[in-house]
Amino acid sequence: MSEGTTDNGPGMCPAYGCFMPGSIKSGQYWKCSFHHGSTAGEMASITARMANRRAQIEIAMRLAASNYGVAPTAGDRKAAREMGLKGDIERWSASRLGNAMLSRLRTECRQPQHQTSAGPTDLRAAAAGDFGDAE
Ligand SMILES: [Zn+2]
Repeated sequence: MSEGTTDNGPGMCPAYGCFMPGSIKSGQYWKCSFHHGSTAGEMASITARMANRRAQIEIAMRLAASNYGVAPTAGDRKAAREMGLKGDIERWSASRLGNAMLSRLRTECRQPQHQTSAGPTDLRAAAAGDFGDAE
């Protein structure tokens, strides 16, 4: 393990505690779309918000990876509506629905919010890692 990386596993985003695959090249690392572009100081609070939404993120990831033309289940649509997605989602494919969910979740996770929902302090302390993107 080289300096500044975590052992989330091969192919995984290196942000401490992150459960997502690395999908975007960022310097020497492959980061997930949630952590890509964030500064070192933002990493841990993003991870904490992701952890709070892990079940939703996993549904969205599964849907986004669906083959072309696959329809989401009624339960998937219900989950999307519970996340606040509106509009003509009855007509959306699973992959479109999943990508819309991911986009919303990404925005939520990257927004600064009150300290009370910021998550475990050990995650925050680990944010001092040196693999944040430069401004
Ligand atoms: Zn990540």
